[in-house]
Amino acid sequence: MRPIQATVSQHALAHNLNVVKQLSPNSKVMSVVKANGYGHGLFNVAHGLHAADGFAVLGLNEAIDLREAGFTQTILLLEGVFDARELNIAASYHVDVVVHCQLQIDMLQQASLIAPLHVHLKMNTGMNRLGLMPEVYLQALNALKGCVNVSGITLMTHFATADEALGVEKPLAIFNSLVKHLPYAKSVANSASILRYPETHLDWVRPGIMLYGATPVSGTPIEYFNLKPVMQLTSQLIATQILAVGESVGYGQRFTATQPTRIGIVACGYADGYPRHAPNSTPIAVNGKLTHSVGRVSMDMMFCDITSIPDATIGSPVELWGNIVAVDAVAEASGTVGYELLCAVAPRVPMKVVD
Ligand SMILES: *Cc1c(COP(=O)(O)O)cnc(C)c1O
Repeated sequence: MRPIQATVSQHALAHNLNVVKQLSPNSKVMSVVKANGYGHGLFNVAHGLHAADGFAVLGLNEAIDLREAGFTQTILLLEGVFDARELNIAASYHVDVVVHCQLQIDMLQQASLIAPLHVHLKMNTGMNRLGLMPEVYLQALNALKGCVNVSGITLMTHFATADEALGVEKPLAIFNSLVKHLPYAKSVANSASILRYPETHLDWVRPGIMLYGATPVSGTPIEYFNLKPVMQLTSQLIATQILAVGESVGYGQRFTATQPTRIGIVACGYADGYPRHAPNSTPIAVNGKLTHSVGRVSMDMMFCDITSIPDATIGSPVELWGNIVAVDAVAEASGTVGYELLCAVAPRVPMKVVD
């Protein structure tokens, strides 16, 4: 069998969830498990995060899968429903919905549901993605208060710059000025906000990336936040080559040896989710020793320099990211973020759960 594998650590998930709980002891934790648990497998992470108070997903199918697997926590649809038919299904599975626009309010008002729903009313505080404008927010809240299909309301917003110098001051002030004293649960903090802004830890917090042990703040490694990597992406060398000075490896001859160089051929390519844009010198570990990639990543294979690892040979273990190589380091070298790399791990990569 092709030796590539992703390993998901339940211990690391539980550890990272505890970091959230220690930082936000008075908040309930809504673990964000969208995008197949940030690429780790929905159930792989839901089990590791079973001590969370809730799970947030995008699709009704994911919410139903979690319910049918026996998860009794709050489950939230982060974009709400996409049509009126979904409202009744959400209601019958006791799934909460975000309400982010007038159309969704209309749907709720016109529906006749088996049971009323708990809604999370989203305010647009400057991200300008989803959410009702502050000027119409209280009016929307009033409409939902009087709606027979609504059993409870949580007030929420989402920050555009919690991970950047700009911070959350302005959007938080907009949110607070309208709803601070209203008697509803409130939910505003993503990972960056949990790690950087205690004043945003309200009734709920909504961690995503930090639970998976990747950084929400580019340039700040996870050790700084006491987080542990959850996914280890590993493979093996399936061939070795020796390049004489002037010889190249891979498509486009993007790496040419300037000294005699030993090359390891790794069973991992962009069809596995490894970024094709990773440049020469992206960190990678062989036999537990740090080295770097060379040449262009191909569909099923990539290359690394094993000149300094003489015992490296066919079958030697390779870590693409995980414990020796931070996923954030591969992301940074490739001009992206850990989020994208984790989510992009391909379905063909076997996933194994370990304690
Ligand atoms: C994805 C998402 C989160 C989690 O964000 P992280 O940066 O991964 O912590 C929180 N809230 C909403 C609304 C989201 O869409």
